[in-house]
Amino acid sequence: MSITKARLLKGIHVAHAKSTENTQTIPMPVPSRVSIPMLQHLGAPCKSIVKPGDRVLVGQLIGECAGTFCAPIHSSVSGTVKAIDSMVTTSGDSCEVVVIETDGTQEVSSDVKAPVVNSKESFIEAIKNSGLVGLGGAGFPAWVKLNIKPTQKAEYLIINAAECEPYITSDYREMLENTEDILAGMAAVKKYIGIDKVIISIEKNKPKAIEMFQKLAAETKAFEVYVLQSKYPKGAEKVIIYDTIGRTVPEGKLPIDVGTIVMNVASVGFVGTYLRTGMPLTQKRITVDGGAIAKAQNLMVAIGTSITHIAEYCGGIKGEVGKVLMGGPMMGLALYNMDTPVIKNNNAVLFFDEKQAKEQKTTLCIRCGKCGYACPVRLMPVSIERAFESKDTERLAALKVNLCIECGCCSYICPAKRPLVQTNRASKKLLRETKK
Ligand code: SF4
Ligand code: SF4
Repeated sequence: MSITKARLLKGIHVAHAKSTENTQTIPMPVPSRVSIPMLQHLGAPCKSIVKPGDRVLVGQLIGECAGTFCAPIHSSVSGTVKAIDSMVTTSGDSCEVVVIETDGTQEVSSDVKAPVVNSKESFIEAIKNSGLVGLGGAGFPAWVKLNIKPTQKAEYLIINAAECEPYITSDYREMLENTEDILAGMAAVKKYIGIDKVIISIEKNKPKAIEMFQKLAAETKAFEVYVLQSKYPKGAEKVIIYDTIGRTVPEGKLPIDVGTIVMNVASVGFVGTYLRTGMPLTQKRITVDGGAIAKAQNLMVAIGTSITHIAEYCGGIKGEVGKVLMGGPMMGLALYNMDTPVIKNNNAVLFFDEKQAKEQKTTLCIRCGKCGYACPVRLMPVSIERAFESKDTERLAALKVNLCIECGCCSYICPAKRPLVQTNRASKKLLRETKK
């Protein structure tokens, strides 16, 4: 199938506000203390295997998988375990957290060795041991995604390099600063999972990255580059699959059901780095931005570093903070606690000032239809809202609310500022409860 023909789903134009795109990533020194949660992925939490008083080293396993759908957790620092506490994550789940006082030496564990990989099985085992989860935000354990059944075939590997949320530039910096490992990671996934074709899909607003990867594609013949329209949410999994190869993932199905695996560009970059070094996932590239932070920049931070430490390292807060977001303004989660630590799938921390955080007043729906027009998966948010208000679960199911990817386009475009995403989330919950 040709990938040159544009297949455009809807979506919205948002201000890019990518003020950090030209700032080289700075490695942030490890703070005096890190808090490493035992739940940093979709699935079962890990169980801590260290206790207060233990000395731990960088890359040492500290959280073992307590379920099959899980990814192990490693120490990002060297130091002494101070406590095993509990915490509530940004998504509202509670889990154990390992609190480590750092010693500043960053001594690396002797367990950190490049893995021996020579088959699909050893590759999956290596990815599992690396602790990799989807770094684009979803946090899906990568080894689970790659461990496709013998009856399944992945024709396409789509590398998601859309980075369509405003402000965030960490994936863009990954493309420019970790290019060789991205190429190595793509080649390894293609080889060991038996994929026919690799396509890297990049949003049009990253011309430098597009030019560089097009040149590399022409030289290596190992992959193709697809240029996505510069629109939000081009990086949503179902949207990027449709746009790139024209396939629709049906309701309740996965990308592999349409012969596709989608990986974030930072995830494949990490695969390349891990196969070369054996260092598990212990640090994360993040964008720090927003009107309330003194210095906006991209940082490489130790997992477990608190938002307070990040703000201090970036020169502190300017004026009043209106809102702090983990992630972008469209899908990020608002923080209520500045001690919240950075975890594996965080890609940005935004410190919004009061003006940026100001909420607009909700008014009555004027039936303009803009929400439906903007929806990238062709839902009718206004009809869903009405069905939810009357608790009409049959109608909610008929309106396919479960297809909602919670991108926020409908709420963003709505002139009446209706809380449509929240209604969709509540509608999905209602359907789940009714099914039970
Ligand atoms: S209904 Fe869901 S998928 Fe459609 S625009 Fe709204 S949040 Fe996005
Ligand atoms: S965009 Fe807002 S005002 Fe317009 S139809 Fe949808 S809910 Fe109503």
